[in-house]
Amino acid sequence: MNRAVVLDVKNLRVHYETPKGDVVAVNGVSFSLYRGETLGLVGESGCGKTTAAMAILSLVQPPGRVLGGEVWLNGTNLFTLSERQLREVRWRSLALIPQGAMNSLNPVMRVKDQIGDAIQTHDGKQPRERLSTRIGELLNLVGLPGRVSGLYPHELSGGMKQRVCIAMAIALTPPVLIADEPTSALDVVVQRVVAQTLVDVKQRLGVSMVLIGHDMGLQAQLVDRIAVMYAGNLVEIAPVTEAFERPLHPYTQLLIASIPSIKARRPLKAAEGLTHDLRRPPPGCIFQFRCPFVMERCRTVAPPLREHAPDHRVACHLYQSDE
Ligand code: SF4
Repeated sequence: MNRAVVLDVKNLRVHYETPKGDVVAVNGVSFSLYRGETLGLVGESGCGKTTAAMAILSLVQPPGRVLGGEVWLNGTNLFTLSERQLREVRWRSLALIPQGAMNSLNPVMRVKDQIGDAIQTHDGKQPRERLSTRIGELLNLVGLPGRVSGLYPHELSGGMKQRVCIAMAIALTPPVLIADEPTSALDVVVQRVVAQTLVDVKQRLGVSMVLIGHDMGLQAQLVDRIAVMYAGNLVEIAPVTEAFERPLHPYTQLLIASIPSIKARRPLKAAEGLTHDLRRPPPGCIFQFRCPFVMERCRTVAPPLREHAPDHRVACHLYQSDE
């Protein structure tokens, strides 16, 4: 794999303001995306993965607030750009495949007008013939027939809508895609079709992708590396095979043990206990209230994310006993 970094996220911090104090949604998250790879960003609902994606695209809305960090793309820190410059970057250099295609498409516009809008907003007015050909090519690329262009969103199935969203995201052939749970809310058969569409698009266009999700089984089949988030913190990042064969962080171990298996017929493991109040993170390790291996040290010292094996980093005192 080419190890050139295409997207570099450094120390990203996002809070949500509430009357009872700030919710810490993303707490100093850092990771790199390499050219051509798919990086899975996983964790339970509310762990901050979608907020991190929105922050990368500078799309966090109030009461959310980006408190700090850097997002480097093509040698530019996106957090230093104006809104006008950011609009130029979005779609063309970095595009989002949104969660829930149902709510992302305009219900009163035909598919061709929605895709056409995205293209013409950035590339200027196009001759009708050329635009129509381009839209047809994009739909074919995501496995849809050209006639879909004349339909309204309500005439499409959930899987077709999601594939239209993918077609829109790649309309300007951005080198980097962020796919936010693109298969959630779809039944398992359609999930597979959409997942295969993503794989095909990635191979044909050579894009690099951050794939957000919570389905570890699906991630195992689609990503090259996996980054695990818990309560706004990145707790482990490793090549996918390594992460599944030798998960280090107790939370990653629990996530993997919770994948149902028809062959093994073992009872599913659940993470005991409750997540802490996100407005008041405890001192020490963020996972201490649910960790089966918690030690005295975990209550007071937050473990940094450190390399434990080549390309495998983990934030846990079980592997940092030298301090
Ligand atoms: Fe568990 Fe301690 Fe490791 Fe946190 S640092 S995951 S509490 S063992």
